[in-house]
Amino acid sequence: MGRVKSAALYRRASKVMVGGVSSPVRAFKSVGGTPLFFTKGKGAHVWDEDGNRYTDYVCSWGALIHGHAQPSVVRGVERRTRKGSSFGAPSREEVTLAELICRSVSSIEKIRFVNSGTEATMSALRLARGFTKRAKVVKFEGCYHGHADPFLTKAGSGMATLDLPASAGVTSGEIADSVTLPFNDAGAVESEFKKEGDEIAAAIVEPVAGNMGVVPPAKGFLDALRRACSDSGSLLIFDEVITGFRVGMGGAQALYGIKPDITTLGKIIGGGFPVGAYGGRKDIMSLVSPEGPVYQAGTLSGNPVAMAAGIATLRLLNVKTYGRLERTSRDLEEGLVSVAGRIGPPLVVNRVGSMVGVFFSSRPVTNFKDAKEADTKAYGRFFWGMLKGGIYLPPSAFETLFVSSAHTSADIAMTVNLAAVSMRRQS
Ligand SMILES: *Cc1c(COP(=O)(O)O)cnc(C)c1O
Repeated sequence: MGRVKSAALYRRASKVMVGGVSSPVRAFKSVGGTPLFFTKGKGAHVWDEDGNRYTDYVCSWGALIHGHAQPSVVRGVERRTRKGSSFGAPSREEVTLAELICRSVSSIEKIRFVNSGTEATMSALRLARGFTKRAKVVKFEGCYHGHADPFLTKAGSGMATLDLPASAGVTSGEIADSVTLPFNDAGAVESEFKKEGDEIAAAIVEPVAGNMGVVPPAKGFLDALRRACSDSGSLLIFDEVITGFRVGMGGAQALYGIKPDITTLGKIIGGGFPVGAYGGRKDIMSLVSPEGPVYQAGTLSGNPVAMAAGIATLRLLNVKTYGRLERTSRDLEEGLVSVAGRIGPPLVVNRVGSMVGVFFSSRPVTNFKDAKEADTKAYGRFFWGMLKGGIYLPPSAFETLFVSSAHTSADIAMTVNLAAVSMRRQS
């Protein structure tokens, strides 16, 4: 299987595009080699420029919960596009998607659509600051909340992949207002809020961390955070850009029974198109313009084509879909664990629903420190072994494998078999 056309495109891209890519992790820096350029996707599979077919566990970083080119998503998008794709004015689709989301996620009474997860978290923090009239934000090591300034220290995803402790271009003022604590450390939360709780506008967290691999919340961690925020008059922001509609219709907040004040969404609610959203309690959301003084706007926000993709995607989700996702994902988890057990490399698989985190580690992975101590070089070798066998994994050890409802038991079985071949070759 050649990859010459992808390589040639990457050379062209590198001359005119920074790093040859539109987002850093895509550049394969941590696994080595050069990125694939994709031409086609159907269900659980993608094809690259050279015509190679792969089973896809990136699924547009989790946005495609039904896999690629799902027929009713395509139909919705086609129908909407033919009648005009953008008005910069209200349209029916926004109302429908807003209703679908408010009905599913109980803490969201009112919502505002934006164009990305980054915009959602950035706006949610501005809103929390406007509501509380405080400056500080508490966040957690290895969580990723998009690329807005306040979130770019000790962050997950590309920041972890490229081993960047912070980003250049973020002012010392922003850094001073961000407090970063270890994920899953309830004690650290309690002492931080005791120390300066009356200055903290909000705590933001991925309720299931999905940008340092997958790290589920430890028992009591989210409760401690909820309590600390309530006691200090700070707002709790659940960044459910990944977990929203991924771990269930009600998101992680329903799964763990914790009610945040503000929720951010993205990925799945856009069905493969650029959409983000933030929503929450009515009294908080009413501060957003035009109802209130917290300004936030967008030329393409609520874009009807993107809304149509989101509507079609959410309408396909039900108890059966989640049951199926749970079964196939569990088979993947158990298959990988059993193969590693037989062949040798120490392997930890963290899984919540169809979020699967693979760490080459002999110890449990419960926070960012553990995730960084896992063998990322072994992950890189595993990535290439799998790629050569026709499996596309995230090109970074600090990302989540996403199973879609289009993945079949046969896809999973084939993946597990290949994992055995790849691990045997490595050992
Ligand atoms: C992907 C992601 C974001 C950022 O969303 P973009 O659409 O990439 O800007 C924010 N938070 C979490 C948890 C994410 O996974």
